[in-house]
Amino acid sequence: MARVLIVEDEEPLSLVLRYNLEAEGYEVETCLRGDEADTRLKESPPDLLVLDWMLPGLSGIELCRRLRARQETERLPIIMLTARGEESERIRGLSTGADDYVVKPFSMPELMARVRAMLRRTRPELVSTLLRAGDIELDRETHRVRRSNREVHLGPTEFRLLEFLMQSPGRVFSREQLLDGVWGRDVYVDERTVDVHVGRLRKAINRGRDKDPIRTVRGSGYSFDDQFAGAVV
Ligand code: CA
Repeated sequence: MARVLIVEDEEPLSLVLRYNLEAEGYEVETCLRGDEADTRLKESPPDLLVLDWMLPGLSGIELCRRLRARQETERLPIIMLTARGEESERIRGLSTGADDYVVKPFSMPELMARVRAMLRRTRPELVSTLLRAGDIELDRETHRVRRSNREVHLGPTEFRLLEFLMQSPGRVFSREQLLDGVWGRDVYVDERTVDVHVGRLRKAINRGRDKDPIRTVRGSGYSFDDQFAGAVV
């Protein structure tokens, strides 16, 4: 399991990042100050660093420079978070050694895709492209879904929804959490939209006597049934 360290002083953002990264299956640590992060990174470097530009204690840019100067972290994958309108600073960020940057406010699915892409490049063994549960197989790379030997055709939203749910079997997500994780925070859609897409996903994935992998939890939301994989395998 890949370990991700988030260094971000805006606590609400840090929490959302943690939540989404954990939902993807990463082990997450957070740090609110640049100088603390510097100390922590000397002790045990993670597999990937999400680093904010402006931080108390030590700026993201300075921390980046220090990390690149140390042998243990010279190749640590770093995604820098910058505020809108810091274009020239962003370029400075890249020349200082960040591997990628994302401009705030960003969409969570986009950042997750960047994290995945970077880990796939740097630590391929930690990021599997195939998600499997019972007779369902989802390939993140080719965006293909199969059930038994049947190809399942899903729209892009249904695909992301299934991927999101499959990443955390058994975990119950509220409609709001699904909107954040699948549609992204910046998009305005009604919570009932979630029900519509879950309905479409079910229709596409279940045929005849197929067991429904998606559990509706009354009053709470939906989850990928953790009994499902055990039941079929
Ligand atoms: Ca900041």
